[in-house]
Formats: sequence, structure tokens, C-alpha cells
Amino acid sequence: MYMTNEEWEQNNQDYLKESYEETGFTAGGYAVHKLICGGCGRVFYTTIYTKKYCHSYWCGNQANNLRQREYRQMRRQDLVCQCCGKKFTPKRADARYCSNSCRQKVYRKRVTDAASTQNEHIFFRTVSRSVENQVPPPGT
Ligand SMILES: [Zn+2]
Ligand SMILES: [Zn+2]
Repeated sequence: MYMTNEEWEQNNQDYLKESYEETGFTAGGYAVHKLICGGCGRVFYTTIYTKKYCHSYWCGNQANNLRQREYRQMRRQDLVCQCCGKKFTPKRADARYCSNSCRQKVYRKRVTDAASTQNEHIFFRTVSRSVENQVPPPGT
């Protein structure tokens, strides 16, 4: 059965680890590197110079996904809270406020604004009525 270098190394981590710790070279004369996998974070040993992942397919994919997730988060972080102006990372794509308290603050303010607009109407009516009352009755 054909085996890639990577598969061979995956099956011979113990040998590579020993070689690394004893001489730093394999019996075949290859330099052994101790690396931390960029995908799963495990320590692994390899003679392949360009390797970044213990499993280039699975861990490479994982690292790509992670990068994409970070990239998406980075773009999301550019959102500015419409209440306090703070930059924040929304949990939902349509979020507009950094926190529940900001959302509630805006909601409450909207309610208060609506209420005060109503109050103004009442106020105006009261004022105009009292002005009418000040007009002296005709005939005096
Ligand atoms: Zn890995
Ligand atoms: Zn806020």
C-alpha cells in the first residue's frame, strides 16, 4: 500500500520524537522538527520542512475555518453601538447595540419620547385653554 510521507510520520511519531530528543535527526539523516499543529494545537514531530499541521487535510481545514471565523469576527467588530458609540462584537448579524442594557436604554428613551410628545399636546391644550379663559368676557 502506498503511504505518503505524512502518513508515515503520523504512524511513527514515537520514533520521530525519540530521534528529535536524542540527535535531532532521523536514521535517514533528516532533521526532525518539533512543531505545534496550527489546526489542533497538538505537538508533533516532522521531517517535512513546509509542514504546519500534523494532519494537513483535517488540521489544515480546521485552521482555515478558524481563520475564516476570525476574519468574520474581525469584520463584525467594526460595528458601533447606536446607543453608546462603543465598538462591539455582535452575537447576531442584525444587532445594533453592544448590550441588552443599551438596547433597553434606547427602547425606554423611545417610549419616554413618545410619552413626552403626548404630554406636550396636553400642555398646549391646557395653555391655550387658560389663555382663552383670560380673555375678558365680552360686554365688560
Ligand atoms: Zn493537528
Ligand atoms: Zn452600547
